[in-house]
Amino acid sequence: MNDYYTDSLLQLAANGRLRTLKPLVGRNGCRIVLKGREMLNLTSNDYLGLAGDKRIHQKFYSGMNEGNILDNFGLGVASSRLLTGDSATAHTLEETLRTTYGKEACLLFNSGYHANIGILPPLFGKKDLILSDKLNHASIMDGMRLCQAQHKRYRHCDYGHLAGLLEKYRKTFDRVVIVSESVFSMDGDVADLAELVTLKERFDCLLYLDEAHAIGLYGPLGLGMAEEQGQLQHIDLLVGTFGKALASVGAFLLCSATLREYLINHSRSLIFTTALPPIVLFWNHFIFKEMLSYGERRSGLKILATTLRQKLRDNNIHTAGSTNIVPVILGNDTLAVVLAEAMQEMGYLIFPVRPPTVPEGTSRFRLSLTADMLEVDIASIASDLAGLMQRFKKDLPI
Ligand code: PMP
Repeated sequence: MNDYYTDSLLQLAANGRLRTLKPLVGRNGCRIVLKGREMLNLTSNDYLGLAGDKRIHQKFYSGMNEGNILDNFGLGVASSRLLTGDSATAHTLEETLRTTYGKEACLLFNSGYHANIGILPPLFGKKDLILSDKLNHASIMDGMRLCQAQHKRYRHCDYGHLAGLLEKYRKTFDRVVIVSESVFSMDGDVADLAELVTLKERFDCLLYLDEAHAIGLYGPLGLGMAEEQGQLQHIDLLVGTFGKALASVGAFLLCSATLREYLINHSRSLIFTTALPPIVLFWNHFIFKEMLSYGERRSGLKILATTLRQKLRDNNIHTAGSTNIVPVILGNDTLAVVLAEAMQEMGYLIFPVRPPTVPEGTSRFRLSLTADMLEVDIASIASDLAGLMQRFKKDLPI
C-alpha cells in the first residue's frame, strides 16, 4: 500500500511540486535563520513587522494583569466556547471589534480557515447560490464545498462577468451571496468594493468579504480595504484574521446580531472545536487596539511596495498588483523551484508558489514585504533576480 503514496510523492518531486516542512532556527525581525544562513524573509504574512518586535511584546507582557489570566485559565481552556471554553476576554474582544467597525455584532473564530469553512455552510442551503471570485482562497473554496448551496465562480475581479451571472441566475435562487477577498493573497491586487456593493444592491444579494490580507494595512485605522474604500457599512459578512498583520492566530466575523446568534447555533467549526487560549485573545485585543495608531508603519510599507515594483519593472521583470504582496509570475514550476533556491543562496528567503495554490501555468514568487524592512534591504532584490533569471533561462531546458 505504501507504494502508492511513495510513487505519488516521487511524481510530485519529479514535477517540482513536492512540499516540505522547514524548521526555523532563529529569527531577528524580518530576518530568519534557515539552513545555517540568515535571510531576508520575503515569505511571511507578518505585514506590520510585529511578530519579531520585542518592544511591543514587552509592552504586552508588562500590561498584563499580573497572574490573573494564567492563574484563572492556564494556557488553554480545554473546552469549546459553547461549553466552558468561553471567557470574558473573548466577549471584550468581540465588543471592541464590533464598536470599532461600527457593526451590529462580532463573532470570533479560531482561525480564518475555521471562519471560512464555518460561515457559508450553515447560512446557505439548496435553494441558494454562492458567486465566488475565481481566485478566492482555498478556505473559501472548502467552505463552498461543505455548503449545500450551488456555487459558481466569476472571472477574477471581472464584475461584468459577475453581473452577467446575476442577470442569468438571480431569480432562480432564494438567496445569493457574493464572496470575494479584498486583497488577493497570491496576486496582491484589490477588489473594487464599490462595484461589488452596487451589484449586491441591484440584485438583492449579500456580500461576504475576506479581509485577511488587508486588516492592519488599509484605511486610516487599519480596519481593512472596506474602510479604505468607504464601504464598511455595506458589507454584510466581513471576515478578518489575526494571523497575518496582527502576528497572532484567530479570526472574527462582523455581521448582524441575528446571523451571529444563528452561527453560534449552527456553525460546526465554531461549535466543535476548543476555544482559543485566553492569553491569545488577550494579545489579540491588545494588538488590535495598538495597530489602530500604526499609520506610519502602513505608509512606510506602501512606499516599500512601490519601490520594489518599480525596480522589478526597471529590470524587465513582470509583476502585478498594487499592495505589499508583490507577485513575480514565472509560469514554469521547475524554474520557480530552481530560482527560489538560488535566491536563498543569495540571502533572500523566497519559496516557489506552485499549483494547486495558484492556477496551472502561473507558478510564481510571492514577494511579501513587511513594515520592519528598510529600503536598503530590498534595494537589490530586482537586480539580483534579473541576473539569476538570465542565467537559468539559458541553462534550463524550459
Ligand atoms: N483567508 C485568506 C484570504 C487567506 O489567505 C488565509 C490564509 N492564508 C485564510 C483566510 C486563513 O486564515 P488563517 O491562517 O487564520 O487560517
